[in-house]
Amino acid sequence: MRSIRPSEIRGVIFDLDNTLLQSRLGAARGLKVASSMIARQLRKQGYNYSESQILRKVHLIERERRAPATGLVPRKLYNRDTWWKSLLKQLHATKLHSPWIHKTTLRYWDAYRRASPPFPDAEATVRKLKKTGYRLAIVSDSDGTPGMKRLRLESLPFRNLFETTVVAGDDTPRVKPSKAPFLLAAKRLGLSPQCCVYIGDNPETDVEGAKATGMTTILVKRRAYAVPLKGRDPPRASPTFQVRSLKEIPAILAG
Ligand SMILES: [Mg+2]
Repeated sequence: MRSIRPSEIRGVIFDLDNTLLQSRLGAARGLKVASSMIARQLRKQGYNYSESQILRKVHLIERERRAPATGLVPRKLYNRDTWWKSLLKQLHATKLHSPWIHKTTLRYWDAYRRASPPFPDAEATVRKLKKTGYRLAIVSDSDGTPGMKRLRLESLPFRNLFETTVVAGDDTPRVKPSKAPFLLAAKRLGLSPQCCVYIGDNPETDVEGAKATGMTTILVKRRAYAVPLKGRDPPRASPTFQVRSLKEIPAILAG
C-alpha cells in the first residue's frame, strides 16, 4: 500500500448501500414484505404456499442475482419485477399479471428505504470531512426501477452535505465497476480522479472500478467477502486502505 500525500486528495466519494446505509436490514425487510404480498396473492388464486416458503425461494433468487460479474449483468436483473416473475415461474403460478408484480416491487423498495438507516459512523464522518474542506459526492448503482435510487439518495438525512450524486446505470450507460460513473462524479466535482478517494464496501464493483480511474480506494469491511461467490474469481484489485469503520477515514486522509 502506498501512502497518500494528504494534499493530493481533495474529493471524497462514497458508495451508498452498505457503506453509508445499513442496506442489508432494508433488503431483509423488503423481501419479507414482498413475500407476504406474493403469498397472499397466490392464496387468492388457489395456490397454497406459506410466506416462509416464498421467502426462502426469494432469498435464493437474490443470491443468484449476485453471482455473475456485476458489470456485465443486464440491467433487468436489478429490476425486482424480474425476481418475482422468476419466482412465479418456478411455482408454475403464471396467472399473476404485470401491474400487480410491479406494485410488489414498489412496496419492496418502500419497505427497504424505511428500514435502512445510516450506519452510526456515517453522518459524523461525512460532517467532519465536509468541515475539513473536502468536496463530497456519492456514486451508487441503479436500483433497476426508474427513479428509485434517486429517491433513496434524496432521502438520506445528510444528503445536503454532498455536492453531487451519480446513479450508475441511470446517469451512465453501465453500472459499477464501469469507469464511467466514477469519472462522472470527479468531473462534476471539477477534480481529476487522482485527486479523489472512493470509499465502498465491495472489493469488486467499488475497488476495481474506482481504482481503474486512478482514484485512491478505501474498502470499508461491513461484511465478510473472504470467500468469492461460486463461479467467481477473487477480486483483482486490492484497495489502497481497508477500514473497519468510517471513523478511521479522516485520520487516513490527514496522513
Ligand atoms: Mg455497497
